[in-house]
Amino acid sequence: MKLPVYMDNHSTTPVDPRVFEAMAPWFTEKFGNAASRSHSFGWEAAEAVKKARKQVAALIGASPDEIVFTSGATESDNLAIKGAAEALRERGNHIITVATEHRAVLDSCKRLEQQGFEVTYLPVDRHGCVSPDSVRHAHQTQTILVSVMLANNEVGTIQPVAEIGRIAREHGALFHTDAVQAAGKLAIDVDAMNVDLLSLSAHKMYGPKGVGALYVRRKNAAMKLSPLALLTPMIDGGGHEGGLRSGTLNVPGIVGFGAACRIAMQEMHAESERLRRLRDQLEEKLRAGLDEMQVNGHPAERLPNNLNVSFGYVDGEALLVGLSDVAVSAGAACTSAKMEPSHVLRAMGVGEDLAQGSLRFGLGRFNTEEEVAYVAGRVIETVRGLRALSPAYESRLSALASNETGTRGRIG
Ligand SMILES: *Cc1c(COP(=O)(O)O)cnc(C)c1O
Repeated sequence: MKLPVYMDNHSTTPVDPRVFEAMAPWFTEKFGNAASRSHSFGWEAAEAVKKARKQVAALIGASPDEIVFTSGATESDNLAIKGAAEALRERGNHIITVATEHRAVLDSCKRLEQQGFEVTYLPVDRHGCVSPDSVRHAHQTQTILVSVMLANNEVGTIQPVAEIGRIAREHGALFHTDAVQAAGKLAIDVDAMNVDLLSLSAHKMYGPKGVGALYVRRKNAAMKLSPLALLTPMIDGGGHEGGLRSGTLNVPGIVGFGAACRIAMQEMHAESERLRRLRDQLEEKLRAGLDEMQVNGHPAERLPNNLNVSFGYVDGEALLVGLSDVAVSAGAACTSAKMEPSHVLRAMGVGEDLAQGSLRFGLGRFNTEEEVAYVAGRVIETVRGLRALSPAYESRLSALASNETGTRGRIG
């Protein structure tokens, strides 16, 4: 086992060696511009992009001409939300999204608010779920777009997108979903999920960084619009990607993205089961070694590789320092001087103290059982060490000892 152990696969994943192998020739001998129509260098690059477009489309049940390649999901989210808002401005100015969305969605909405759009940020329950009814109630005649992620990047909660998509369609609004974390873990079907726009990122699924895609539904009967009328491009230029995203295509990246999707299609089912088993082992080991902890996210409707845990009576920053040979994320993000609790945990009602003591484990394709055992051991050791120095934890223990019935700690 090599140290440090990488268990932060919601942040990024290593490129699968098979993906790397598929990409390699497209940097050197096959370096053509896929838009060059006059020679074989361009033609072979265009063929490679065509194949990758099919592979990406197949993963989500789309047709290849509905895939727009981008620089990643941040751009896909921006294009979906700002592009739809600008194109549909005549129809209305209201957007519905959720408090626990990724920053790329929330900040795109914030930008639109500065430009006169109105945005409803729906709350979630304690598991991080948004209720379809709340989406229904938030609809106005002015609503043009609903954006709800498929699976959350911090707590893994899977949203009921098929129903939300159906509600959006009934109301004549477009439905966008950020499917970055779900892709390659859950089966995705844009038709069954009633999705009009869907964001993907290669580097979250063992492909390269700097490439992603936006699925754009070709025919939208309810809106009576073609995709070009549906979205205003954010980048103008040579008219690549059907005019929706100009710029010379990142051929090696796109080839790698395609290969990553092909592998995901073939291996997703078995891989998700393996990850779920490892994730459950990790949780069991932590529970066996520690009290005063809670798992965040939906108990069942959750990504198979996600474990987000709050440890009472510990500080997240100290926890990360103690876990120097384990790569995980904290439930709080450093902003300037102090730690800000995550907007996701806060929206779920996790108290500030608990949110501060949270860790996000993201298991991945290359994690082993041995690594899970090691990480569990290190976390238990570190949390116990920090609690041994905590007067609050000590007084809690003595309070419990003096109470025969054994009151519950502050963490249920
Ligand atoms: C990582 C991530 C993004 C951003 O993707 P990039 O390709 O890194 O820009 C967007 N949404 C979610 C849910 C993510 O996890």
